[in-house]
Amino acid sequence: MDELLSRTDLITVISRYVPLKKKGGNWWGCCPFHHEKEPSFAVNEQKQFYHCFGCKESGNAVSFLQKMENIERFDAIKMLAAEAHMEMPHFEGNAESVSQEKKNRLLALLKDAARHYYANLSSDRAEPARAYLERRGVDEHLVKKFGLGYSINGSEMLEYLRKRGYTNAEMKDAGIAEQKGDRYYDVYGGRLMFPIINGFGEIIAFGGRTLEQNPGFAKYRNTSQTAVFDKSKAVYAINLLKKRKQRQGLEYIVMTEGYMDVIALHKGGFDMAV
Ligand code: ZN
Repeated sequence: MDELLSRTDLITVISRYVPLKKKGGNWWGCCPFHHEKEPSFAVNEQKQFYHCFGCKESGNAVSFLQKMENIERFDAIKMLAAEAHMEMPHFEGNAESVSQEKKNRLLALLKDAARHYYANLSSDRAEPARAYLERRGVDEHLVKKFGLGYSINGSEMLEYLRKRGYTNAEMKDAGIAEQKGDRYYDVYGGRLMFPIINGFGEIIAFGGRTLEQNPGFAKYRNTSQTAVFDKSKAVYAINLLKKRKQRQGLEYIVMTEGYMDVIALHKGGFDMAV
């Protein structure tokens, strides 16, 4: 922790959220933790801590990120470690027991998959998906904003991922493939794809909507628990909410049930819908 904090520049970290100006020995800005117009939030560069004379919040880079990003201490440390190019110690026997290396591999796979699903949407074979989007009034801008995509069939994506060097086991671990006998197939085959993106902009899972008119099965299929996806902790469109908050603040949010509800609300100007 000492090494991490010595390699971290608190001014750089805080400046990403709060404009700071140097005055005397300290840097000053408007406190992000309470509402104010005159800066009473001071950052001491030498001692690497901040203190607000208004609301009395204070701490170091870890506590700042924890509060700002609304994340656990562990995740704040992880973010700073990545920036400082320091390797996290490996923890056994808890939720972190899947190595970060393996998680990064799954995240890379999911990102590749999302890009490919998105590209598929422009192919000739995506006619059913495009017809559905048109019927629901989802235009090109929204498709891009939400990174929507299309899974052509049960095998096309897996062939693509194999060419990119991923194994069947990795596709299974990422929640994209399942095994029937010795054959693997894309569990989202034929579906319109909604990537689920976390607050750090990482694709962690997918929701897929069937395009059959009267399916004899659930309309939506979602990634179940994986090493990078915890259903109980993820909120769809949180990545967009975060950007909106940084851009113009947030007086309220709208929570709704489904992916299409979120997209429809964004279309109607409610870009704080999740
Ligand atoms: Zn304050």
